[in-house]
Order: sequence, then C-alpha cells, then structure tokens
Amino acid sequence: MADKRDYYEILGVEKGADDATIKAAYRKLAKKYHPDMNPGDKEAEAKFKKASEAYGVLSDPEKRKQYDQFGHAAFEGGMGGGNPFGGFSSMDFTDIFGDIFGDIFGGSRRRGGGTGPAKGANVRAVARMTFEEAVFGCTKEVELTVKETCTTCNGTGARPGTSVDTCTKCGGKGRVVFSQQSLFGVMQNVQACPDCGGTGKVIRDKCPSCHGGGYVPMRKKIPVEFPAGVDNGQCKRISGLGEPGTNGGPRGDALVEAVVANHPIFQREDQNIFSTVPISYAVAALGGEIVIDTVDGPVTYEVKPGTTTDTRVRLKGKGVPFLRDPKTRGDHYVLLVIQVPLHMSAKAKELLRQFDAECGDSLHAAERFRAERNGDISDAGKKKKRKLF
Ligand SMILES: [Zn+2]
Ligand SMILES: [Zn+2]
Repeated sequence: MADKRDYYEILGVEKGADDATIKAAYRKLAKKYHPDMNPGDKEAEAKFKKASEAYGVLSDPEKRKQYDQFGHAAFEGGMGGGNPFGGFSSMDFTDIFGDIFGDIFGGSRRRGGGTGPAKGANVRAVARMTFEEAVFGCTKEVELTVKETCTTCNGTGARPGTSVDTCTKCGGKGRVVFSQQSLFGVMQNVQACPDCGGTGKVIRDKCPSCHGGGYVPMRKKIPVEFPAGVDNGQCKRISGLGEPGTNGGPRGDALVEAVVANHPIFQREDQNIFSTVPISYAVAALGGEIVIDTVDGPVTYEVKPGTTTDTRVRLKGKGVPFLRDPKTRGDHYVLLVIQVPLHMSAKAKELLRQFDAECGDSLHAAERFRAERNGDISDAGKKKKRKLF
C-alpha cells in the first residue's frame, strides 16, 4: 500500500469521533466523489475508493480497534491480502445512501465482471427548474432514450424465421476454462467465451430492426418528481430505466440531474437563502418598516434606528426545506445596504444641505481645514473644532 494516509484524516474526523460523525463524514465525501456523479473522473474515483476504504475500517468496531492499535499494519502482510474489507463493491451502499435522497444510490451496485449476469449501465439526463421549483419541489418531464425490446425479433436479435444457435465453443454456457502453466502449477481461469461474448448464443442472421442487439432505442417522456429542497447538481435515480443488463442481469438506472436556474435576487447555500435589500438613509437612521422579498412572497421587517450599512438580518425559517425533513427550513439572510439617492429635487437637495449643517456640516469640512492651515483663524473657526466628518 503506497498511500499511508491516516483513515481519520481521509474522512476529516477526530480520532475519537463517534459512529454517527464518521458516517456523516463518509456520506459527504461519497456523495461528492461517487463515480456516478463524476463519470470518467479518475481522481474522484480514487478519492471515493480511499474514503470507502477508510469508512470500511472505521465503521467496523473490531477493525477500528485493530486500526487504532496497529495502524495500517493491522491489515497488511499475511493478514488477508491488504484490502481490509474485500473490495468496496461489497459494501452495503443502500444502507448509507438510502436515506439521503430517495434512493440516490439505491439498489445493488454490483456489476458482474466476466460471465455472470451484469447490471446495465446507467443513463443520465438533466431536468431544468427554477429556483422556487427547487425550493418547493416539482415534477419535471424528462426525455430519455430507453432501449426497448425489439418487436421485430422479440428481443432474440435473430431475423424472424431464423434461429439462434447455441455457441459451439462454450456449449451455451457462456464461460470457457483456460488452463495455464505457472510457477505454482497449472492455473485454471474461467473467462467469458470470446465467440459469443458470454451469452452462450450465436446469431447467424441478424434482425434488421435491431442489428442483432435485441433492443431498439426509443425516446420516452418520463415525469420525474423532485422533492422540496433539491439542490443544483443533485440526481434523482429512477431504477430500471438504464441500459439493459447482460446475461439476464437487471437494467441500469436513469440518473436525472437537477439543474437549477439562477435567481435574480436570491442566492442559495445549502438550506439558507441570501439576498441584498436596499434601505434609505432615513430608514437606517430613524428606523422603520421595510418590505423584503422572500420565496414565500413579500414580508415586512422592522429596521432598528441607527442601523449601519451591511447589517445582516435573519428571517428565520424562510430558507429552503431540508430533504429529509421538509417541515424544517433553513433561514433567509438579508444584507441591508444603505442607498444614496441619485435623483433629487432641488428642494430635497436644499433640505439635505440644511440637514448636514445641523449634523456637523460635513459639506464644509475641507474649507475649514484650509482656513486653519492658512492661519486665518476667525472667531467662528476657533469655536468650531476642525471636523472632517
Ligand atoms: Zn430485433
Ligand atoms: Zn460461447
């Protein structure tokens, strides 16, 4: 094992972390780096495997005890071949993912290698939705290409009227045994039959509709329900709408990704919503009621007298519902920003000058400064302290 990184470090938890913390940490990493979420990304896959390996050990009380005592050495050498939990595919993913987002990673993840029945590949699609639709949940019609059993040949792949032959190389078993001389004697390897690809059947005259595949692609519109609180990039898994399995294996799944549009005024971070609301100088100084837009519609809010710009206020429970607990919602944080009036009437300008004269005369601070520097200290200048405002 080249990578000796500490399992606790990989999951980002303390040494004494309890089971729930470890599970939560792993869930977070697994969701981020899961191969289904990062197709073709080798680095993500490696990270996912590392996290799974760490979780495999730390979630098992016996293995964790050994690891705490002996470190990585506990699982090396003659103690069973290095891999402490026998390949990550053997872990029960349903247990950990089943409760995150419907059955986001549900079902069996085992992909049969070689000759056995293998689950078909997953297909991916996207569902576009508005910010509010994601917050409150929605049903979106998604177009998928689903491979349907060919009606011309009823899925056999053979031209109607012709027969499907049993493969002569493997005798219909789909598997062939290879014997190999090695240092340890004769090794026997079972492999998928190269002639029939493991199906045990040979099609001499292929069906013209499906070219021997037994399936034809069909565009289908499927309603997909997204729960309240779904976030951009999250996927909904629909079991059995993926590619057909091989050798009698089940179909893969369809993974439909939620693509959430940006909102002109709301930003979202997990379960919280953020927005900026302009307030007038008068409201900031004197206090008063303002109207704030939320995903539930406009609400009124009492601004305290003497509120400075960039004050953040919290509207409790006006955020996004939690996927696992839709009755509980995050909060809406509002940044109050004092606005400078751009279009003022002559009267408003005059009143503002009067107001300024009353409150420290900031408009003439530089004049006073120059007069002071030139030694031209009038009685008025003496009385008034230099104030730059
Ligand atoms: Zn066909
Ligand atoms: Zn064969």
